[in-house]
Amino acid sequence: MARGVGMMILVNNDLMTRDQATIDIEDRGYQFGDGVYEVVRIYNGVFFELDAHLDRLERSAAEIKIVLPFTQEKLKANLNKLIQQVPVQSGHVYMQVTRGVAPRNHPFPAKTEPVFVAYTKEYEKEPSRSPGRAVFTEDIRWLRCDIKSLNLLGNVLGKQFANEQNVDEAIFHRGEWVTEGSSTNVFIVKNNVLYTHPANHFILDGITRRVILSDANELGIQVEEEAFTKQDLLDSDEVFISSTTQEVRPIVEVNGQPIGTGKEGEITLSLHAKFTSRLR
Ligand code: PMP
Repeated sequence: MARGVGMMILVNNDLMTRDQATIDIEDRGYQFGDGVYEVVRIYNGVFFELDAHLDRLERSAAEIKIVLPFTQEKLKANLNKLIQQVPVQSGHVYMQVTRGVAPRNHPFPAKTEPVFVAYTKEYEKEPSRSPGRAVFTEDIRWLRCDIKSLNLLGNVLGKQFANEQNVDEAIFHRGEWVTEGSSTNVFIVKNNVLYTHPANHFILDGITRRVILSDANELGIQVEEEAFTKQDLLDSDEVFISSTTQEVRPIVEVNGQPIGTGKEGEITLSLHAKFTSRLR
């Protein structure tokens, strides 16, 4: 992206241009990945599920013992200022908070001020929701995947592997057990029952995942938050992935094998329709 002509950055409580914003080389986010983040969708100029994302940000921060330097109310007011300055029709806001700046040393410094940064992105093109393909890859991440940590190397390597295979997503598994995608949650449908991994330390408890589970209940679809194997996934009738940016995206082929009919399934389509009806 061009260096931020018109791009405004929220740094702690202050709005500034990208050129005015500076990150210290000893920010622990930069040196250790010592921080957490969120991505919130903006539809028609309005944040989607903002409270859920801010609750999750606060939880992720608390799990790594960072106390946010402001209340959620203040943060919301700041984010609203940000989108008033740079209106976004369809896009997202990225935000992160790091432990702060201190001479490089592993243990927490005695005293640091957390550094918060947020900025928006307007989509030039809507993210693709067309039927996608995926590959399996071993989940090599740490065992606190419930924390939305800045440490994304396992996810980055997974997505890169998928890219190199010319497919859309890497589906992680620990041994035989499917956990989630490199940047998505994974669902399967078998005999009209919807399965997804329980929200524990093996996965991120996706906000889109939660919306889908509640939509599924409303639609009378039986839901099981239960782990399933790679073979269960290959034998399923439908597979889809979910995330803030990809919403509900059908996956019609995994490791070169078609799933079900090889086309997007009915339950996937009904959940996507229900999801989009929320946006109106
Ligand atoms: N799992 C991982 C590893 C992710 O990075 C994401 C995207 N943030 C998700 C799941 C989906 O979460 P959400 O629906 O909150 O975007």
